[in-house]
Amino acid sequence: MPRKTSHSPLSVLFITPEIHPLIKTGGLGDVSSSLPSALRQLGVDVRVLIPGYPQVMSGLKNKRRLVDLGPLAHFPPAALLSARLQVGDSGEIPVIILDCPGLYQREGGPYMDPSGHEWPDNALRFGLLSRVGAILSSDASPLKWRPQVVHCNDWQSGLTPAYLNTHRGKRSATLMEIHNLAFQGVFPPGSVAQLGLPADSFNINGLEYYGQMSFLKAGLYYSDHIVSVSPTYAREIQTSELGFGLQGLLSGRRNQISGIVNGIDTLEWDPSSDPHLNRHYSLSKINNKSANKRSLQQSLGLTVDPDILLFGMVSRIAHQKGSDLLLQVAPHLTRIPAQLVILGSGEPALESQLMQLAKNYPGKISVSIGFDESLSHLIEAGSDCFLMPSRFEPCGLNQLYSQRYGTPPLVHATGGLIDTVVDCIPSTLSDGTASGFLFQSMNPNNFLAGIRRVSTLYRDKPAWRRLQKNCMSKDLSWRVSAESYLEIYRSLASGLPVSQTVA
Ligand code: ADP
Repeated sequence: MPRKTSHSPLSVLFITPEIHPLIKTGGLGDVSSSLPSALRQLGVDVRVLIPGYPQVMSGLKNKRRLVDLGPLAHFPPAALLSARLQVGDSGEIPVIILDCPGLYQREGGPYMDPSGHEWPDNALRFGLLSRVGAILSSDASPLKWRPQVVHCNDWQSGLTPAYLNTHRGKRSATLMEIHNLAFQGVFPPGSVAQLGLPADSFNINGLEYYGQMSFLKAGLYYSDHIVSVSPTYAREIQTSELGFGLQGLLSGRRNQISGIVNGIDTLEWDPSSDPHLNRHYSLSKINNKSANKRSLQQSLGLTVDPDILLFGMVSRIAHQKGSDLLLQVAPHLTRIPAQLVILGSGEPALESQLMQLAKNYPGKISVSIGFDESLSHLIEAGSDCFLMPSRFEPCGLNQLYSQRYGTPPLVHATGGLIDTVVDCIPSTLSDGTASGFLFQSMNPNNFLAGIRRVSTLYRDKPAWRRLQKNCMSKDLSWRVSAESYLEIYRSLASGLPVSQTVA
């Protein structure tokens, strides 16, 4: 149960298309379990709405049928189930499962079929999620529980505020959160009628987006407030460089946009107890970290050498993540000398170029294609330095995990990476704030210069230790950020303007 606070408990419906550990394709999956968990510890009555994919249905035990939704116009029959998701040692999150076998019971990922093609009925699949989110957030809800705020995450629940806009009775306040503006949920104009939305909402002041309809634009237009996952990214999306054509709308709403950096689940990501590691370690036993490096080198076929600088990277293989830049720089990196471990999956052309790279540099570069939670933890622990040359990065989680694991990150100076990594220069190293390395401007020379800076500091063992200790001493939990969400929820629930929140 939520802890009692001096304020009456706030009720929040958190709508998400993925949740760790049941189903995850990226950072949103992690945030969807760790943020609600942190909010419950602050006394918020938050419940998560998620589609009943096979992984959700089989992963949650003790499901209870709540209600049949009956025939909702435009959608196949659906029902709501309730269950509880255990999150680390920190407690349970109440989950409302949207059970609609016709849309969700199929093998594959949440957005794509097993061969990597988007599900052809994604508009209907996430239209239903949005629609049900809206029903539960209004006086048309069949449930007794009613949220004061509905928290929508990314395009998959972007239509919730649009549906609520058409509702005549009482409704919850709406918050639209952008985890990545690059994914907008764009569908043909015919989807507007197909999803039961009014024809006049297909408008520049509505959900029309360059002749198509966009779920995300709908959420950004109709929501009461917008949050993005870091203060810098919240500013960047108001510019033509990173606004994906939505910069006009976003800059027009600049007084209703907050930037709040993500926290991490510090129980799940804890090198002193992580079950995926070869050897546990902590700030006081940092020497034990090297056993994980050996284990990584051994298991991936790299030359076992405790002294060689080992770079790690775990990410979607995509232009956004700078995988192309890495391909250009990797041969130079091996000559430093250094080793490189990559885990990821994504764009097929980049995947095959990376695999070829590993073949060209046996014993020096390892590339694992796929999604492997356990290996991702070992890479965070076993690498000396973590690479994130992202072209843009709303917040990023891996640079936070790597700091917690005493693996300073080298990152491109963009978005949330600017807000969460302090560049290592003599003054920041001596005042204890340095926590990694930043390189400016996305080009191979700058990236390589960053790699050389890492290598120079790595050879200065006392300085490197100091940097690692800075990283491991940082508070990366949800403590501060969850309070910022709470403040926004309180304002929204009482109909007050939200003060500009940056955390
Ligand atoms: P994004 O959400 O843009 O993909 P983030 O850095 O915010 O990037 O979060 C990515 C999350 O997904 C991290 O938890 C990361 O470890 C995980 N991840 C990404 N690719 C893989 C992979 N191939 N195997 C295991 N975990 C992965």
